[in-house]
Amino acid sequence: MKPRLRSSELYEEAQQHIVGGVNSPSRSFKAVGGGAPVFMERGQGAYLWDVDGNKYIDYLAAFGPIITGHAHPKVTEAIVRAARDGTLYGTATEHEIRLAKVLKEAIPSMDKVRFVNSGTEAVMTTIRVARAFTGRNKIIKFAGCYHGHADLVLVAAGSGPSTLGIPDSAGIPPSIASEVITVPFNELDGLRIALERWGDEVAAVMVEPIVGNFGMVMPKPGFLEGLCKMARDAGALVIYDEVISAFRFHYGSSQTFSAFSDQDAIRPDLTALGKIIGGGLPIGAYGGRADLMAMIAPLGPAYQAGTMAGNPASVLAGLACLEVLREPGAYERMEAMAVRLADGLQSSADRHGVPLTINRIVGAFSTHFCGHPVTNYEEAQGSDGERFARFFRLMLERGIYLAPSKYEAWFLTIAHTDADIDETLVATQESFREMAGD
Ligand code: PMP
Repeated sequence: MKPRLRSSELYEEAQQHIVGGVNSPSRSFKAVGGGAPVFMERGQGAYLWDVDGNKYIDYLAAFGPIITGHAHPKVTEAIVRAARDGTLYGTATEHEIRLAKVLKEAIPSMDKVRFVNSGTEAVMTTIRVARAFTGRNKIIKFAGCYHGHADLVLVAAGSGPSTLGIPDSAGIPPSIASEVITVPFNELDGLRIALERWGDEVAAVMVEPIVGNFGMVMPKPGFLEGLCKMARDAGALVIYDEVISAFRFHYGSSQTFSAFSDQDAIRPDLTALGKIIGGGLPIGAYGGRADLMAMIAPLGPAYQAGTMAGNPASVLAGLACLEVLREPGAYERMEAMAVRLADGLQSSADRHGVPLTINRIVGAFSTHFCGHPVTNYEEAQGSDGERFARFFRLMLERGIYLAPSKYEAWFLTIAHTDADIDETLVATQESFREMAGD
């Protein structure tokens, strides 16, 4: 590994022009000890190359979207086609209908779809639809679930099983935060208490049905069923934020995932999408029951618009990406590699006495440096961030690129190979050996 001198230089320069030197705080290395983040120059398949000429095996996958690997030929071809034909018309196109149909087929709870430009926008608008439809203002969310950076969802729990929100960010009026109730994930008591107290004011219960934002966390058996029933009984809608989870674990959404037996019992009213469905270009989408979606302009009184929404490049890239994912064996291959990697990680951590909890779901997993299970945010917070930071640095020096946060997942792509897994496992063993010697 060559010293990352050019990355350091660029970081100095970037800080003079771009706030914090990065265009999204999750790209900074603040949570892993600070200093210059790596400036990347090129991605191909499962690999990234930095500006100093170092090569990395990439498990970040751009925080999820790059499930085909970087610059997949079919996705690239789609983008080139879009560029040749003009990138934006500000009119309707046939491509949008194709992607909407593909999404509807895979996610049966969506009667109608609308494209936007990010997961944040998708979530934000599902909340608007829910409020417009129910005439209620409050939202219930689950601690640790991330739903983008809109005011309403950037709110964390106070103490206690169920609390009105406290803004998680400056610039969010307390009046907005007070419309959000945060309850713990994976237990129904907090939700029950919140609904008993505020039920007739709640427009929607919003959840990441399979969590990707405090590690990968499966809902416990009965959790989603209970959540949906309790929300319905209170006259509130259910919104699934599937920005990470849709098309990540199988060709479809959580609602159609084989881990859940009763699809009807966990059927959401509205779903927010993003990431994978744009094949690496900016996109978001939301959809749901036709009567709810009819609230949106030009049909209904709730307004949502977008100059870039449904742009041909994002839509064609998304279509190409989803086509690649439909190829037989795509998810099975990612799962097989993730199993080998996660098992190898666990055994080398065990061998060196490093407490490690791995939550794996198909081709994605999270690594929490702790000796207890991680089923909710509190347990995830209890993992050792400094240990993770040390591990992250040791892996980086061995050419393995992980997300720079203990809460983010490792994502396999269809471009990873068995040789990549072998190389990663060697790096893992060396890293744990060093950590054990600390
Ligand atoms: N919801 C979830 C579950 C997410 O993980 C994210 C992004 N990590 C978002 C919403 C926001 O998406 P975007 O960054 O595209 O605005």
